[in-house]
Amino acid sequence: MSIETFLAQLGNRQDPTTGAISMPIHMSTTYEHPELGRSTGFDYTRTKNPTRSVLEEGLAKLENGTHAVATSSGMSAIQLIFGLYPTGSHFLVIRDVYGGSFRYFNALEENGQATFDYFESYEDLEELLSDDVAAVFIETPTNPLMKEISISKVAEMAKPFGAQVIVDNTFLTPLRQKPLDEGATISVHSGTKYLTGHNDVLSGVVITNDKAVGEKLCWLANTTGPTLSPFDSWLFLRSLKTLPIRFERQEATAKKVAAALETIPGIDEVLYPGKGAMLSIKVSDENRIKEILKSLKVFTYAESLGGVESLITHPVTQTHADIPVEIRESYGLTNSLLRLSIGLEDPDDLIGDLRRALGNEQVSGQ
Ligand code: PLP
Repeated sequence: MSIETFLAQLGNRQDPTTGAISMPIHMSTTYEHPELGRSTGFDYTRTKNPTRSVLEEGLAKLENGTHAVATSSGMSAIQLIFGLYPTGSHFLVIRDVYGGSFRYFNALEENGQATFDYFESYEDLEELLSDDVAAVFIETPTNPLMKEISISKVAEMAKPFGAQVIVDNTFLTPLRQKPLDEGATISVHSGTKYLTGHNDVLSGVVITNDKAVGEKLCWLANTTGPTLSPFDSWLFLRSLKTLPIRFERQEATAKKVAAALETIPGIDEVLYPGKGAMLSIKVSDENRIKEILKSLKVFTYAESLGGVESLITHPVTQTHADIPVEIRESYGLTNSLLRLSIGLEDPDDLIGDLRRALGNEQVSGQ
């Protein structure tokens, strides 16, 4: 079955009592036991909920995993993963990483719970890998410099040291990248982005194909309680049905916008990996950023990505503000960088908006 068919039908044929096409929202937090020592399979919603289970089974299938846990946010998904490792574990992390992940890793280090080293290249990674490394954490493409890193290469490099590979797959989704198929042990998403896609559901996902890791993740999720609510699980299921059509259109538009940006004056660099719907630009005059953000009429100046509305973000003052300035400048995350999340608007409206704001051009007839 193709991914489009699978997703369009997600949640259908799950309720034989009524034949509901849309998966019902099971709000009950607790379930009656038929008799002492027997269960319907559902005891308490933190542990397992019928609506969330259908979502989790679907998400696991999407990335060829055996287990998935749907969580209350991308950050709670990342926190759940780091609960797998003993105190004092050592991790290697790609240098260009979401600012919230960096902030969390820093907090773990400051609390004496774990240690982290950052790498920018395969050569750095090779030098840093040792038997002491519990896991390597990467994003690809990276946020916000859009650099690609090969998951299979990192997995091959990590394997001899017994280090697991964790991939934040938020930017490309299972439609363009399946980290577990390339040797990663764990894939994580901010479900808030493309998977739910409407800038209205905060959520996260952890997926694995390792039975022991999967069982421990489910145990941890039940023990610490970051699991996604039934209503948000239903919104997530409903949103996944249109993921392929949204992502394909957003990606096609991003390609057009990236090409157009190359022709707009006032931009030093366009950073677009050729797939997905995220891109960044470096403007020639960073003093113009305030005015640019103010003059955009179609793009909304807001942090987040992946939704149907196009957003523009200034990472150094928003998503990546917690990365110290000397660190971010050392790897090219400069004040001049703007990150664009391309939504479902007409490409010409988006390009016109950027042309007007960046190139300071008047568009006739408007
Ligand atoms: N990973 C990436 C790549 C992100 O961009 C974000 C949020 O922007 C997160 C994780 C965290 O997700 P959430 O905001 O759902 O907690």
